[in-house]
Amino acid sequence: MAKVITRFPPSPTGYFHIGNARTALFNYLFTKNQGGEMLLRFEDTDKERSKPEYEKDIIEGMEWLGILHDNKSIPRQSERSEVYKEHLQKLIDSDKAYVSKEEVGRRPEGSSGQSLQTASARRDEVIRFRNPNIKINFDDLVRGEVKFDTTDLGDFVLAKSLDEPVYHLTVVIDDNEMGVTHVIRGEDHISNTPRQILIQEALGFSRPIYAHLPLILGPDRSKLGSRHGAVSVKDYKKDYLSEALVNYLALLGWNPGTDKEIFTIDELITEFSLEKVQKGGAIFNIEKLDWVNKQHLAKLSDEEFSEKAAGNIPGELRNYENFEKILPLIRERVSKFSEIKTLFGKGEFDFYLREPDVDVEKVVWKDESKKETKETLIEIMKLIENLDDFSHDSIKSAVQPFADEKGRGSVLHPMRFSLTDKDKSPDPFTIASIIGRENTIKRLNKAIKTLSE
Ligand code: GLU
Repeated sequence: MAKVITRFPPSPTGYFHIGNARTALFNYLFTKNQGGEMLLRFEDTDKERSKPEYEKDIIEGMEWLGILHDNKSIPRQSERSEVYKEHLQKLIDSDKAYVSKEEVGRRPEGSSGQSLQTASARRDEVIRFRNPNIKINFDDLVRGEVKFDTTDLGDFVLAKSLDEPVYHLTVVIDDNEMGVTHVIRGEDHISNTPRQILIQEALGFSRPIYAHLPLILGPDRSKLGSRHGAVSVKDYKKDYLSEALVNYLALLGWNPGTDKEIFTIDELITEFSLEKVQKGGAIFNIEKLDWVNKQHLAKLSDEEFSEKAAGNIPGELRNYENFEKILPLIRERVSKFSEIKTLFGKGEFDFYLREPDVDVEKVVWKDESKKETKETLIEIMKLIENLDDFSHDSIKSAVQPFADEKGRGSVLHPMRFSLTDKDKSPDPFTIASIIGRENTIKRLNKAIKTLSE
């Protein structure tokens, strides 16, 4: 078998977006699975819309995701006009293409036939392909056999001039010159394939194997676009792990045929096959991405998490003397980095940093009296104030038998509320061990005092 060579040829006319990243990833996974090479090239024939900043963004996005190309230098179509010109001339010389003089410009609004002549006097040349009007079949690795009658395409345009070839021609010449064996791209290109096959045949090139990937759709099943939220890869950098985004993108149109959903990029390379790519559109679901991200966050050490989340941890939290201890608890609560700031903003971590108020209504367990809850808190205080070791386990061994005897809610609820004044928080043993003996006793005393008023 010949070595697999694939290509990822974005047009640098916009930021690297989710759809392109998925195409690049599927090319990469297939290629590395097959031990081949994936080539990147910039299709920058649209001079007005192509920009260096977009090239840079695509390169950086691919590096961040770990989708690595195998070029030594990255070719640009704008630098290859001579090559295209030579092939165009060959097609014209062999009468497979022809120069056609055509009227350009439009009839001005409300003009008469007379004024059309003056308004559109300009006649421009374009180079058209002489369509042999044949039927074309190709085997698509995703879609199966695809049939087209090329008659409908007419004599389509190959170039605006010898120096201005259109995409259909440049893509065919470049793929041939680079020895591309597999063209893996979005389904939106499927209707381009018959034109490109006709050009290949006219130039005597061999046909690559095609695989057209399903479209990515928003939750409303329309093609994914900015109205569905962020579509630029760079917008995901601050909130998600690259390995999670890669994992999620792989699931947009591919599944391993098992229940496994969490993969490293190396596992994806091993398991990926184009046969398991679905035909139907793939829905981009941000909740699923969040879930995948959470699974990957769980694999990080505390140090790694803290480093990657750095920009999203408010200073007051980071400077907290027991920050190291609460980090795992913060991490449990979030599935992406920005949620740390959101939870902090809602005051969810306040009780670590400062003494909470005491809300008598909430501290009291169900229909117990204030007095009964107060006595419970006094008992808890007695059980823990002289512990040698103020760790979670030691506090728990001291309080749990009392809770088992009196009722868990009746003991643990007022203890937890005195320490936090929050409806949701970790268990009271964990909190006491983090805030320490002195603060724990102070808070219990404050609640006892308030209950006595
Ligand atoms: N430049 C084209 C695009 O960005 C590439 C299409 C192809 O893969 O042939 O859509």
